[in-house]
Amino acid sequence: MESGASDKVREKLQELIEQFIESLPEKMEHLGLAIGQLEESSHPDEMFWDRTRNEFYKIFTNGASYGFHALSEKAEEIGLFLDYCVKRKACVGDAEKNRLSELHNDMLRLCEKVRKDYLAGAIAHQQGELPKRTSDFSRCLCLYRSDAFFTDESRDHLKVFGYSVLSVDSLDSVEQFLREGKTVVLILNAGTFLGETENQERLHSFCCPAGGFGERLRVVYLCEWDNFDTRLFAVRNCGNAFIPSPFAVPYLIDRIDALLHDKEAEPYHILIVNDEPERVASYAMVLQQAGMLTSVALDPRNVVSVLIESKPDLVLMNLDMADCTGCELASLIRQQEAFVGIPIVFLSEERDRNKQLKALQYGADDFLVEPVDPESLCATLAVRVERTRGLRYYMERDSLTSLYNHSQLMKRLADDLSRSRRIGSRTCYAMIDIDHFKQVNDKYGHLTGDRVIKSLAQLLVERLRKTDTVGRYGGEEFGVILFNTDINSGEALMNEIRESFGKIHHREAKNDFFVTFSCGITEARPEDVLVVIKEQADKALYCAKRGGRNKVIRYTDDVEGHDGGE
Ligand code: GH3
Ligand code: MG
Ligand code: MG
Repeated sequence: MESGASDKVREKLQELIEQFIESLPEKMEHLGLAIGQLEESSHPDEMFWDRTRNEFYKIFTNGASYGFHALSEKAEEIGLFLDYCVKRKACVGDAEKNRLSELHNDMLRLCEKVRKDYLAGAIAHQQGELPKRTSDFSRCLCLYRSDAFFTDESRDHLKVFGYSVLSVDSLDSVEQFLREGKTVVLILNAGTFLGETENQERLHSFCCPAGGFGERLRVVYLCEWDNFDTRLFAVRNCGNAFIPSPFAVPYLIDRIDALLHDKEAEPYHILIVNDEPERVASYAMVLQQAGMLTSVALDPRNVVSVLIESKPDLVLMNLDMADCTGCELASLIRQQEAFVGIPIVFLSEERDRNKQLKALQYGADDFLVEPVDPESLCATLAVRVERTRGLRYYMERDSLTSLYNHSQLMKRLADDLSRSRRIGSRTCYAMIDIDHFKQVNDKYGHLTGDRVIKSLAQLLVERLRKTDTVGRYGGEEFGVILFNTDINSGEALMNEIRESFGKIHHREAKNDFFVTFSCGITEARPEDVLVVIKEQADKALYCAKRGGRNKVIRYTDDVEGHDGGE
């Protein structure tokens, strides 16, 4: 597997581990309630105990797969003991109560240890990651005889976005970068490359599967003439994009980012619902070999909780299960608003087309007849996941900047705040507002103003980590959520971004101009609710504006002391 892809799998796995840790306190609370019931009555509420027992079996299996062995073993012991108590029904006495309390305490200690160990590791990991924010020189932009399309300013602009820009006059250098393991975006002038037949062949040899660089090489053609013939030439000569000149640099960056994003997309995450463990194992193996992540629900009763915890992209469901049919389960899932959009694909040996169509009426999206060959299985799931991700992208994003829109930003802030409360980490929220933006519009026009907004959006995306979130709050205002970050690091980072933004040359006709922004940042305390955090960041931003703009101000009691009016 490509290292980029395996990094993504690792990141996703880390996300799942985090969700697992987050879910522990709730499960411990359930165990506490189950024990509490014994104080009042020696008849356990069977359904509740059953559910709690299932939860601990899940900690047992998931904990082991994430490497938390002591926790997993203790969870199994608790699951077995709850099972024993349920079976004994009326005979649960003091001895059982005491034993359960002991187990409860042991488990609490283990949960706390797992949480602390994880947090220490995550913080160390993120601190190690900080320098990468400034510039990632493993991404080369090679201009092969295409310098004429770029001015010094546009090269600087590209550098701000973390690309190293190099002019090369031979494909030897491109080959060398690829051999060094770098990701290369090769920028060619279609007009001149047309005549270079030898180099065209060489380019084909890089891009063909045997060349071995396909995954790390992207080819962009620039051209003064936008016509069918030059576009066809680009397609025939490994072109991933064709951009007619003149072009705006932010547009080029957008296209390059999209090309690289395509390659670095998150692995697909499939939830397998099937009550036959052997088949689950074989499907999981096939999907994992294709680079997908898998979660499993052997018991249909666990499906909803796994959907909430693991947030898979798609449900692959056996139609013919013993306790409840796939149709029933699909209806049950669809009746919950949060899961209306998740694709469901049925697997069954049913060959009768009418019966298949009937099954689809229960809310599933596709039907695969077993035995299904691994390639068709992976291709069907990939198409479904891609389409759903595409739709979700448009629903959650702002059309000008492609950042999260206002409602998604707020939703993510609420989620991150409760996540940090649960795992005891720190989270900062920053509000950014471009300075004197009305003047930019007035002097250079609305379209140029839009380009300035886009360039700030691109810079933010470039400089923030994957665990951070950036959204367009509205107009020329942005919100940034820095997960697992304290106020000192958060403020330093926002200042670094502020300085970079101030250095970008913006251009309209013959005018060069610079733009700055102001920022207010606050660190959430565990007791703070969303409105309070928003208000604090807003007040700090207001202070930055009053203090002369082009500043980052952190929220403190002094900020609170300022009154309104500029
Ligand atoms: P300040 O430093 O105090 O923030 O000054 P300002 O001029 O930026 O003031 P304010 O934030 O009130 O003005 C925001 C302006 O941004 C007003 C509006 O015309 C403009 N704007 C809002 N959305 C867009 C957009 O999508 N595109 C463009 N070009 N302009 C926008
Ligand atoms: Mg504003
Ligand atoms: Mg403004």
